[in-house]
Amino acid sequence: MKYAVIIPDGFADEPIESLGGKTPMQAAHTPNLDALAPMSIIGHSHNVPKHLPPGSDVATLALLGYDPDDVYTGRAPLEAAALGIDLGENDWALRCNLVTLADGLMKSFTAEHISTEEGTELLKSVQERIAPQWNQIAPDFPGTIEFFPGVSYRNIMVFRAADAKSAALFSKATKTFPPHDYTDQPFEQALPAGDGAAQLRELMKRVEALFADHPVNQKRAAAGKLPATNAWLWGQGKRPNIVPFAERFGGIRGGMISAVDLLRGIAKNLKWRQIDVPGITGYVDTDYAAKGQYAARALDDLDLVCVHVEATDESGHEGATEKKVKALEDIDALVIPPVLEKLRGFPEWRLLVTPDHPTPVRIKTHSHGEVPWLIAGSDIAGEGRTTYDEVSAADSPHYFERGWELMPKFLGR
Ligand SMILES: [Zn+2]
Repeated sequence: MKYAVIIPDGFADEPIESLGGKTPMQAAHTPNLDALAPMSIIGHSHNVPKHLPPGSDVATLALLGYDPDDVYTGRAPLEAAALGIDLGENDWALRCNLVTLADGLMKSFTAEHISTEEGTELLKSVQERIAPQWNQIAPDFPGTIEFFPGVSYRNIMVFRAADAKSAALFSKATKTFPPHDYTDQPFEQALPAGDGAAQLRELMKRVEALFADHPVNQKRAAAGKLPATNAWLWGQGKRPNIVPFAERFGGIRGGMISAVDLLRGIAKNLKWRQIDVPGITGYVDTDYAAKGQYAARALDDLDLVCVHVEATDESGHEGATEKKVKALEDIDALVIPPVLEKLRGFPEWRLLVTPDHPTPVRIKTHSHGEVPWLIAGSDIAGEGRTTYDEVSAADSPHYFERGWELMPKFLGR
């Protein structure tokens, strides 16, 4: 059996007035998904348990068949894996967003989609100037901190505690907040709280001073772009312990196509192959066609290929309804056809299309809530539904309150 999984990140949404009361999924012109709908099983599931933060970290683990309560330790350690960062027993990884804070507000959680080159230069300065100050910042918690540039605004900090006692700087009582939840809102309420907060706040203060007159920001200001005013620390966690996918699911060998480190990191933890595709960006300007073609080709030797598209989620965060609709139309036109054509060349195949979580444009961030999914395949008898969207899925009897139970069903295990 050959399998493909296509994830339009954050695509699930709500009825929107400017779309005449339709959801973006209903409004999008998606002839390929429409053609699949009647020959598919359409259902819905909940990927993020109520007590966990809604985001692609928890939601993707669930959608790929893992109970988040068993495997989820935080977002940053998953991303650290993608960057090839080894975490030791006493190490903590933290996500380190480059952000724009202005007038007490979270102006941009991406520092206006700062380039990887600029981000790398800023992180290098933090490493050289701020990292050596750790023992002043946290004298009671000896160890070192290291900064690792990722893609664009998404970077990683690692605290390598000298011993277990020092590693207790952070605990379950450490509260950090994803900056994308606070767009255009006062950021004060979202600064770190609880264990380790004083140290993180002090660190952020020092970074802010360093960035204030940094050459990268001077150039950005001259070009009329928002500066990166700070490094926002969140998503902390220790090294997760995840059973590889093939071990869990009868030897199925998987591969991942994604532009974002989180998904690449999850794939690495699952011991999947990372399929590098030129021209993919994690945004609406990504090369959709290349994703589709590389996915199709990967099916020659892998059993399962997963294509993750971030553009839909980013559009949700921007509150950009039309961009979101267009992103799904691009997936339908450019990703689905080559993958489907390839699958149909094998005697046995299945295709799963599902968002990981909703990112409603109304709230510009992730929410708990259901996602609609579609499963088509050589051995799947369709149920005659005419469309695949939130509304058609919501009244389907196929429902998984525990989203991680969908994957074994999809795989037929
Ligand atoms: Zn998101």
